[in-house]
Amino acid sequence: PKPILQVDDLKKHFPLRGGLLGGVTGHVYAVDGISFEIAKGETLSLVGESGCGKSTVGKAVLRLFDITAGQVVLDGTRIDTLPQSTLRPMRRRVQVVFQDPFSSLNPRMRVKDILAEPIRNFGLAKNNADLDRRLAELMDTVRLPRDAITRWPHEFSGGQRQRIGIARALAAEPDLIICDEAVSALDVSVKAQIVNLLQDLQKELGLALLFISHDLAIVEHMTHRVAVMYLGKIVEVAPRRSLFAAPKHPYTQALLSAVPVPQPGAARQRIILKGDVPSPINPPSGCRFHTRCPYVFDRCRVDEPLLKPTSPAHTAACHLHDLPPEQNPLSADASP
Ligand code: SF4
Ligand code: MG
Repeated sequence: PKPILQVDDLKKHFPLRGGLLGGVTGHVYAVDGISFEIAKGETLSLVGESGCGKSTVGKAVLRLFDITAGQVVLDGTRIDTLPQSTLRPMRRRVQVVFQDPFSSLNPRMRVKDILAEPIRNFGLAKNNADLDRRLAELMDTVRLPRDAITRWPHEFSGGQRQRIGIARALAAEPDLIICDEAVSALDVSVKAQIVNLLQDLQKELGLALLFISHDLAIVEHMTHRVAVMYLGKIVEVAPRRSLFAAPKHPYTQALLSAVPVPQPGAARQRIILKGDVPSPINPPSGCRFHTRCPYVFDRCRVDEPLLKPTSPAHTAACHLHDLPPEQNPLSADASP
């Protein structure tokens, strides 16, 4: 089946202005040539540390700005070049849930008006009775009491507000929802509830999700596939099980080493990376991870590694996988 979303060689470079004449003095290479696709009904998690460009990817798909290069294709239609005037049907099909449930809901609107807005904007209710029926259904869908629609955002907890944010996204009857750190601001127990809700909704409604998160632990139990970003590039893409069981990129390995393991005694060996993430204004040559990689060798400083399959569904961008297996510390065959 054709993917609901296809992103090809996407680049977003933000110009930096300065100097006496206020000219362009450089660029922030926020997203620098990434490709991925999401199947209908699939969850793809985009993970990486803050500043790696993952939110910029979400914004590019939402057409919140023009991209620098590449293509964004939604259900077979290229949307990055569509003029704003013809974007409306596409806008309905991709919705977003933001990180902060406290600032993303208009405090001066009752829940019913917050939810009615997309329904009216996109012409999704035939009349007022139909609208009321749809509002009640949305409350059921996100597991809030039906009378919640008459209340104001400030009357709800963070987790409940995030349910309202999800209901607002669902009100537009989208095919794809982008969750940008949608549970990051919530307490641990509430996080799990919202993740479970998203997972249930995805199954019930056949939604595709682009789940953007800095936290691998959150995606471990809910995603189909994971794409790991580092400094504007995707460094690894794999099905969930394969990624968590046997990461093939040293950066993923380090991120994963910080994820707690539920069984006692099964703790992963913690890998502490040296230094900070370099600036996306002047990314390192060759492999962008070479300044922090525990396995760096000469080729890494000059030659940029491309995403290549390490097994049929698993790809990684690392020169180690060009070495004979006995010299590759990330190979299953490596001697211990
Ligand atoms: Fe490390 Fe080299 Fe692989 Fe980059 S290409 S992740 S520097 S071993
Ligand atoms: Mg972000």
